[in-house]
Amino acid sequence: MAEEAEKEISTFEDFKLNKQLLNAIAEAGYQKPTPIQQQAIPLIMAGHDILGIAQTGTGKTAAYLLPLLLKVKYAQGQHPRAIILAPTRELVMQITENIALLGKYTDLRFTGIYGGLGPKTQIETISKGIDIIVATPKRLMELYLKGELVLKELKTLILDEADKMMDMGFMPQIRQILEVIPRKRQNLLFSATMPEKVVQLSEEFLEFPMRVEVTPQATPVETVSQVLYQVPNLRTKIAMLEYLLQDAEEFNRVIIFTRSKRNAESVAKFLERQELGEVRAIHGNKGQNTRINAMEAFKGGEVRFLVATDVAARGIDVSMVSHVINFDVPFVYEDYVHRIGRTGRAENEGASITFANEAEMYHIRKIEKLIRMQLPEQPLPPAVEVFKTPFEEQQEIAMEIDRQKRRENPDFKGAFHEKKAIPKAKPTKTRRDPKASFWQKTKKKGSGKR
Ligand code: AMP
Repeated sequence: MAEEAEKEISTFEDFKLNKQLLNAIAEAGYQKPTPIQQQAIPLIMAGHDILGIAQTGTGKTAAYLLPLLLKVKYAQGQHPRAIILAPTRELVMQITENIALLGKYTDLRFTGIYGGLGPKTQIETISKGIDIIVATPKRLMELYLKGELVLKELKTLILDEADKMMDMGFMPQIRQILEVIPRKRQNLLFSATMPEKVVQLSEEFLEFPMRVEVTPQATPVETVSQVLYQVPNLRTKIAMLEYLLQDAEEFNRVIIFTRSKRNAESVAKFLERQELGEVRAIHGNKGQNTRINAMEAFKGGEVRFLVATDVAARGIDVSMVSHVINFDVPFVYEDYVHRIGRTGRAENEGASITFANEAEMYHIRKIEKLIRMQLPEQPLPPAVEVFKTPFEEQQEIAMEIDRQKRRENPDFKGAFHEKKAIPKAKPTKTRRDPKASFWQKTKKKGSGKR
């Protein structure tokens, strides 16, 4: 039955959408509905609550926006009739852009609200009358508590990237919101993965939901090819990065992920010095405008490399990303799925390349379990110089491996404890960070290697 229903829907015209939406879809260049759209749109239009398991890149945003735009239909009254909650301002902005795109031929009033800037303009926009609000949970609640937002007309509540919202600790705000909005409403919840917390949330939030799932849990999008390189240390990672990025034609729009803000900064600075193309870094220490500008420039194609940490990268919606390079392996394993979902979006082919040192291989094995596949591994190309691991880095890696072993087996004493081999940091005169000096030493190609 389900199969038959799916077969029937092969074009957007098959949904009972209106002319305004069909025109906008055609202009957006969407030729046919993606699988999540095929499944979810008819159910949402029929008024069901939905539990949607879909990664970013599957077309999930349009899957909930099209029925929503059809339902809210035209500007009416003063107060919002639909709210979409999202974990980050980047995602809020991206969803808002999608509303602008798909709602182009409607007169619907919508806005995105998020923290990080004063609420004045947001309050002004809302007070002029609004139909749809896209918001981060915290800012939405703030405006409500200030009395700037009336929620009694709300008919639809959508939670996007629910797993990220749980990770970021938004449960209390979401609970507060649920308490103050009308009970009779349609609820949609979308999440890339279904950890226990999201299951719990969905039980609290959804009523008799229909479940739609486009890929098994945490399965990377099919159009992404993945490869793993074991790279012994930071310096060799840099050499490998440099080697790969020489191929400007192949690596034309690349996101490089790092685990820390510091590595993001350092990689970006390194790439700048190599003069391989425009580079921008986005991470938590960057001001909002800098982040927005960086994303826009990357989207527009003026910037070839975006170096990002996981949190900063949430909600990036850029098509035609040629490669995602995992300079570091994420410790939050689901972030791997999110990261590689940035390439191969909506039918485009993409590639993901991961660098892992010996300690990171532990996390690779966990990620492989999560995605239920083994990452194909390749040897480092002969042209890439393999540097010796400096003493401090070697120590860090060895200690991390010890920690991993202890985690797996609490009785494990650890090589370091037995031998008492951790030498106390020798007092040096300069006390320079060995890694920092490495980054500074590595100059433009050719001049940095000795
Ligand atoms: P999402 O999974 O919502 O983040 O969407 C990923 C990308 O796919 C966005 O750039 C959308 O504009 C695009 N997209 C959504 N639906 C379609 C479709 N039916 N055909 C082609 N591209 C689409």
